[in-house]
Amino acid sequence: MTTHYSYACKDYPGMEACPGLVVAETESEVWQLMELHAKVAHEEDPAQWNDEDRAQLKTLIKAE
Ligand SMILES: [Zn+2]
Repeated sequence: MTTHYSYACKDYPGMEACPGLVVAETESEVWQLMELHAKVAHEEDPAQWNDEDRAQLKTLIKAE
């Protein structure tokens, strides 16, 4: 049974040095936390993420 979803920023190519990790009960909450992390830690604008970026990020979200 899936109890939580998580995303480790270091799993993203080029982000190996980032300690950022988000964990939440639902996948949609993880997405919001990922977007916040990208904004705060990496000064990225998640509104600019295209479908390819999001598809790649989705493969890195772990369900446990
Ligand atoms: Zn990060």
